[in-house]
Amino acid sequence: MTLLSAKLQAVLARIASAARQYGRDPAEVRLVAVSKTWPAACVREAALAGQTAFGESFVQEGLDKASELHALGLDWHFIGSVQSNKTRLLAENFDWVHSVDRLRIAERLSEQRPASLPPLSVCVQVNVSGEASKGGVCPAAASALAQAVALLPNLRLRGLMTVPARSDGFLEQRRPFRLLRQLSEQLQAGGLALDTLSMGMSHDLEAAIAEGATLVRVGTAIFGERHKA
Ligand SMILES: *Cc1c(COP(=O)(O)O)cnc(C)c1O
Repeated sequence: MTLLSAKLQAVLARIASAARQYGRDPAEVRLVAVSKTWPAACVREAALAGQTAFGESFVQEGLDKASELHALGLDWHFIGSVQSNKTRLLAENFDWVHSVDRLRIAERLSEQRPASLPPLSVCVQVNVSGEASKGGVCPAAASALAQAVALLPNLRLRGLMTVPARSDGFLEQRRPFRLLRQLSEQLQAGGLALDTLSMGMSHDLEAAIAEGATLVRVGTAIFGERHKA
């Protein structure tokens, strides 16, 4: 077993153990391996170890890997901030966009999604911690945005996503995830069919799973520390 596949197995074991601890079926929590800054060779290695979904934060970098590894049939998730001049590339090449936080971006993704592809899966990103540096719609505006996104023909609104402020205490980590879950429950009570809570990263995936995450986005714990360019 390679080091990367050992780390991948360790993350899968953390997910399964957290799910069981909080009374959930481990199969309800999917793993997106965040491969940003790591070369295609690392993605290939993770894919050979069984990982099928990968997350990227930079459009061109993601496209390069997706095209190089096209034959592997992987799922590509965009998790970075979306600029409006990049929506076409996203609509044409990715399976998911987790970071929709403006209606105009969602409209462009829907208009530009090729008819030959299934609807693009999207999440509305919510800024639950209120940090100015982070993307995401504020919680009070999330419902209106989600309702509008759900009406767009070539998108499939899957749920909500968040990247909370980093904190180290478990109870503290749970609080923003709980907010996102409650927001999602309100939207579902209002009639939206959502199946995804995209929350939890290397350092807080257990707290996210405790609060109902159905998709965790994990980079460092699988690939290692990212090097700053
Ligand atoms: C980089 C990134 C991750 C992965 O974070 P790690 O701490 O490396 O696990 C998850 N989500 C988003 C939006 C990211 O940008």
